[in-house]
Amino acid sequence: MERRRRAGALDSRHAVKRSEQAPLRCWAEIDLAAIQHNARVATRTSRCGIIGVIKANAYGLGAVPVARALSGLVEMFGVATLDEALELRAGGIRTTPILLLGARVPEERELVVRNGFVPCISSVPEAKAWDALAAKRCKSLFPVHVDIDTGMGRMGFTEGDWNARTIRALAALKNLRIEGIASHFPSADEDQRFTRRQMRRFGLLQMLAVEHGLAPRMAHIGNSAGILSSPELHTVSNFARPGLMLFGVSPIAARQHLLKPALTWKTHITLVRELPRGSSISYGRTFVTKKPATRVATLAAGYADGYPRALSGRRADILIRGRRCALLGRVTMDQIMVDVTGVPAKAGDEAVLIGSQGREHISVAEVAAKAGTIPWEILTRISRRVTRTYLPS
Ligand SMILES: *Cc1c(COP(=O)(O)O)cnc(C)c1O
Repeated sequence: MERRRRAGALDSRHAVKRSEQAPLRCWAEIDLAAIQHNARVATRTSRCGIIGVIKANAYGLGAVPVARALSGLVEMFGVATLDEALELRAGGIRTTPILLLGARVPEERELVVRNGFVPCISSVPEAKAWDALAAKRCKSLFPVHVDIDTGMGRMGFTEGDWNARTIRALAALKNLRIEGIASHFPSADEDQRFTRRQMRRFGLLQMLAVEHGLAPRMAHIGNSAGILSSPELHTVSNFARPGLMLFGVSPIAARQHLLKPALTWKTHITLVRELPRGSSISYGRTFVTKKPATRVATLAAGYADGYPRALSGRRADILIRGRRCALLGRVTMDQIMVDVTGVPAKAGDEAVLIGSQGREHISVAEVAAKAGTIPWEILTRISRRVTRTYLPS
């Protein structure tokens, strides 16, 4: 395991020291004050404490800078992987506890316990394994959260398994502190009836736990969609786990006005050329110019930066000089072409792929809808090649 870990570290994180840096080509401006604002909205709306979900490099916006901006506004951080937790620790996040949302494989447990991260557990045998490890490694009780599957179908105790015997078996473990009880909404942005029923059941499962000697300090079930759609969330939980909304994107369109967008994704125009009628543009020649003369700007962004290739031919816009300009032809790996006819655009100008310029705005949701996907995927696929820059909080 150690050998494998070290090899992996070399593969993915080997940073070559170098003395020269290219000027910004394609970059993200991240507004940390907006993220703080959105965290306060999450607290106010949910009437719960907040577990700030910053998995997948804080949805692509940078785990450590985002965590620093959020510390003091959240009770815990939630991440998906052990590496994400270790990165936060290495980045100086020491006092805010870190909850590991995904299921852990046995070979990860040692590192989890040694670092004091908090796992979510799914069965009594798993709880016993953590308990045995905690007996060897911990001076104080080792905190864990129990997850109950109320409709997500990916982890946790099944509702059928959550009975007196299970609860008593957990309560009897001497080296664990069952700090939290958790579940997850599969369709808080799509099915209010199911979500309401799920909340009621989550409340009943907690009552059963109390009845048999288990009273966790924390109960949490709400993601962004749950927080923004369920005013009664606080009646069955005292914590919530917002992710997406922290970054200024609401999964519920009618609540978008509450949030401040945190991302502006920019690039440069590298060339402006005038092409005659009948010129084909990009791979497959799916677009052919119709005007007598089309001014075509070439931009330094492509699908290798995370700009979705699925936007090809889907009437996507890019902001240049405060105007919406049409994407032409297919998205290539490193460059895209945009119609700037009638726009005084020139090489070196900034272009906005997502965010505001002048009075125009292109939202993550707009790009996701045109690309046939969801905002979560657009954010988390912004690639390593895009430089993250931070506006002060
Ligand atoms: C990702 C995740 C969240 C956050 O979800 P959003 O929809 O981004 O708010 C909350 N809880 C769990 C278990 C998750 O995996």
